[in-house]
Amino acid sequence: MANFNIDAQALNTYDAIVVGSGISGGWSAKELTAKGLRTLVLERGRDVRHITDYPTTNMQPWEFEHRGQLTKDVKDANPIISKCYAFYEGTEQFFVKDAEHPYVQEKPFDWIRGYQVGGKSLMWARQTQRWSDFDFTGPARDGFAVDWPIRYADLAPWYSYVEKFAGITGNKDGLDTLPDGEFLTPHEWNCVETHFQKQIASKYKDRHVIMGRAAHLTSPKQIHYDQGRAQCQHRTICERGCPFGGYFSSNSSTIPWAAKTGKMTLRPNSVVHSIIYDEKKGRATGVRVIDANTKQMTEYYARLIFVNAAALNTNLILLNSISTRFPNGLGNDSGTLGKYVAFHNYRAGISGEYDGNLDMTTDGRRPNSPYIPRFRNVYKQETNFLRGYAAGFQAGRSSDTDQSGMGADLKQSLLNPKLGGWHVGSHMMGETIPKESNYVALDSSLKDPYGIPQLKIAIAYDDNDEKMIKDYQEQMTEMFQAAGFTNIRLRDDKRNPGLDIHEMGGVRMGKDPKTSMLNKWNQLHAVKNVFVTDGASMTSTSTQNPSLTYMAFSARSVDYAVKAMKKGLV
Ligand SMILES: Cc1cc2nc3c(=O)[nH]c(=O)nc-3n(C[C@H](O)[C@H](O)[C@H](O)COP(=O)(O)OP(=O)(O)OC[C@H]3O[C@@H](n4cnc5c(N)ncnc54)[C@H](O)[C@@H]3O)c2cc1C
Ligand code: SF4
Repeated sequence: MANFNIDAQALNTYDAIVVGSGISGGWSAKELTAKGLRTLVLERGRDVRHITDYPTTNMQPWEFEHRGQLTKDVKDANPIISKCYAFYEGTEQFFVKDAEHPYVQEKPFDWIRGYQVGGKSLMWARQTQRWSDFDFTGPARDGFAVDWPIRYADLAPWYSYVEKFAGITGNKDGLDTLPDGEFLTPHEWNCVETHFQKQIASKYKDRHVIMGRAAHLTSPKQIHYDQGRAQCQHRTICERGCPFGGYFSSNSSTIPWAAKTGKMTLRPNSVVHSIIYDEKKGRATGVRVIDANTKQMTEYYARLIFVNAAALNTNLILLNSISTRFPNGLGNDSGTLGKYVAFHNYRAGISGEYDGNLDMTTDGRRPNSPYIPRFRNVYKQETNFLRGYAAGFQAGRSSDTDQSGMGADLKQSLLNPKLGGWHVGSHMMGETIPKESNYVALDSSLKDPYGIPQLKIAIAYDDNDEKMIKDYQEQMTEMFQAAGFTNIRLRDDKRNPGLDIHEMGGVRMGKDPKTSMLNKWNQLHAVKNVFVTDGASMTSTSTQNPSLTYMAFSARSVDYAVKAMKKGLV
């Protein structure tokens, strides 16, 4: 019997374990396997194979039972997830259903999740900007949160590394607020977007309108063909899964790449319950996993553990990893675990019209749009709120063809299409401030269907966010007016935190183990063989989209971890 147990333990032992197969987990798996480590990837959701498991990717609107719309039943059953713009009849299969994965909203929080192989990399909007030193020095300058233990220079080579593999389109814009990367051919502008860009450039020295940087293969290189991916076809239905691999997802890129090494074992339907800490060895030895189908618990062991379950679930797993040494969660000597969670503020928007360029129109579709990098409080504090916001911008011209009537009249109208005027719009992406009072914790009584404590989320906007929204609206109104846009309308949709899907923090990086969880290598200060490289590790949130930074952190951290392991340091 003893022999049997030893065999079972050996069978379940790997060099490394990665928890989660989304954007960050995919990168951890790719890097670990490339370095020759036998790696177990544990994913709580079902398997989703590239191409074969994208059931709606080639469907036309009229082929959907409800023409792509959500039914009232689906909306009623999923009041949270239905708020996400990307959740519709073509993508229902990739989002968690509200009732199946309960959590406690101590304050209103719309937690948008994708539990499957690939995680949210299947449905994301693919905006990929580097963070700059203004972001990494922000906390030190303003005194909120703690100082980041790294600067842009530490991450720059890793940004290049992941960009080349993932494939990022963009222009080299030469802005110090938004460092340039390794770009494929940029997407094209339309004439009103160019008009806005020129007007802003002529009227403001410090404000720039640039083409968005996005994870699309506009001009694939050999490394992308080697992944089995091909040029983006501009279909703009990416969130259903792209059979061309035109955009970056774990499913089309990192996971199959890791599989090709022969070193990866991917285990879907495996809900990680907690990390096992061995008091005698003074390190983590493995993870406890609940099989999603049988509900049986199994242990898996490894020398290195990468936690990539997406920010809040990573917090949950660490909080649930309790031992005599760590009664308040793994590595939680500082007492900061679960705290200082922050997010992005997408509440405000602006729209308008433009009556110039009426002899011009646009053709084709573009899975990306222009972007306005942060321009507030960059070089000095100039407003009554801390930090700043970036903004999306887009111009388009709609059809104004009369589609009423029947028969010959209708045919006549359709054959002679008319164009309406130009519509312009923008949305904000504001940085929120990580505060101790914005936290997640385990609920003391409520459990999920696997018997794991439910996550209790207490995250809210504050006065800083309200002031920032006001400033965005004022500044964008001024900029829209400067460009000659009319009929300007402001929006504050008062959405709950969470709907931006950029939740970050709770396991923050920092120089001092007394005030942070992770060191500059994304390594738990107190448990050297456990690494967290998803959004949980972010010390502050910047105004840029975060996922490219998770990719860079994952690759950099694996590089360090494997070298440290070989030296016997972890
Ligand atoms: C509609 C939409 C638009 C977005 N747009 C952008 C954008 O333009 N730019 C950008 O940067 N980001 C965007 N995001 C956010 C982006 O998708 C996330 O930042 C990114 O996916 C996070 O990577 P991750 O690895 O941390 O998490 P995920 O990609 O979510 O992967 C986490 C994985 O861990 C698994 N998991 C969780 N708990 C456990 C457990 N206990 N055991 C085992 N497995 C577990 C999950 O099932 C999941 O597969 C968007 C997201 C959505 C949904
Ligand atoms: S726009 Fe590009 S990435 Fe998106 S579905 Fe079409 S081909 Fe794929």
